[in-house]
Amino acid sequence: METHDYLALEDRYAAHNYAPLDVVLHRAEGVYVFDIEGRRYLDCLAAYSAVNQGHQHPRIVEALRKQAATLALTSRAFRNDRFGPFCKKLSELLGYAKVLMMNTGAEAVETAIKAARKWGYEIKGIPRDQALILVFDGNFHGRTTTIIGFSTDEDARRDFGPFTPGFPVLPYGDLREVEAFFEKEAHRIAAVFLEPIQGEAGVIPPPPEFLPGLRRLCDQHQALLICDEIQSGLGRAGELLAHHAFGVRADGVTIGKALSGGLYPVSAFLADQEVMQVFTPGTHGSTFGGNPLACAVAEAALDVLVDEDLCARSKELGEHFRMGLLALDSPKIQEVRGLGLWIGLQLEDHAGPARPYCEALKNRGILAKDTHGHTIRFAPPLIIEKSEIDEALLKIGEVLR
Ligand SMILES: *Cc1c(COP(=O)(O)O)cnc(C)c1O
Repeated sequence: METHDYLALEDRYAAHNYAPLDVVLHRAEGVYVFDIEGRRYLDCLAAYSAVNQGHQHPRIVEALRKQAATLALTSRAFRNDRFGPFCKKLSELLGYAKVLMMNTGAEAVETAIKAARKWGYEIKGIPRDQALILVFDGNFHGRTTTIIGFSTDEDARRDFGPFTPGFPVLPYGDLREVEAFFEKEAHRIAAVFLEPIQGEAGVIPPPPEFLPGLRRLCDQHQALLICDEIQSGLGRAGELLAHHAFGVRADGVTIGKALSGGLYPVSAFLADQEVMQVFTPGTHGSTFGGNPLACAVAEAALDVLVDEDLCARSKELGEHFRMGLLALDSPKIQEVRGLGLWIGLQLEDHAGPARPYCEALKNRGILAKDTHGHTIRFAPPLIIEKSEIDEALLKIGEVLR
């Protein structure tokens, strides 16, 4: 079969809920993916940062292989010998007392929402069913009906209602508006929930005073600050947790994606005991959450992150990539933003939409993703070499010209 045969099968038999680039991948290694005709591409999306450690990292593959042949799933009705040690490692690495493991990112977000609400009622004393969780426009937190209910992306929401109440949406980056909202409703606010850098919106960092300001408001009014680090965390932004770059510590975080290095869906919600104590037996769970295969894979993925110093690499090489893009000095570039190896290249309006640029990059052996019309996102695996970035910059320059 050739590329067009695979496209035809997808078209005929798969739901059309994505519009992928027309490249059919078969194999991957490190920063490269290969299509069915054997053409090689530099992966500048890294599966939305699930593959920060690089494709088929040998240490993670080996952990997967070994654990798959030993014990894969027990359910939490019984205990397994990978769960406790993994929770200890994750808790110590990220600095939160407790871990609650799930599978996909959206499930970790649902867990954070449930924790915040229950904490609001049981600890803060919010009257039943009155709790609010503040969120921000341009957010992306996943695809469940509750989560899309507070999305501001019309495609994500339209005709999926009615939605879960209790999620006021405020302008991202506007501390004044948040302050004003707290003045009116502080007694009902359980949490402020946000991406410390908005990913799907186009890699958008907030103004530097935003997160410290939210931290102060949450402290003043006894509310939780919870960061969704599913895409921004685990090295992508040059830190284990991106919100640390703004000098604050959140009361809870959601992580996923790179937690498994792309080999298995693993996610988690982390918080300190005051928050996590609201979960008692029977109040929350998941058949696959915390299974031994997930724990073994995620443990290896975290070891790779630490042993290969991927946060520092991300910081250093991200700077190099951004400087290189600016040095292209293209009249089509309006802005280059981001932190670490997480870059949003915003095109000028006159340059037209980003998608044809991504198609042209694909034809030159680079896979990148357009987002929200005029932004191209570059987020390669964090193991990328400087020389590979330089090669990519040459091709990006060509395409922009
Ligand atoms: C990808 C993502 C999610 C959802 O993760 P899934 O595994 O697709 O459910 C949630 N929040 C953020 C910030 C993400 O980037």
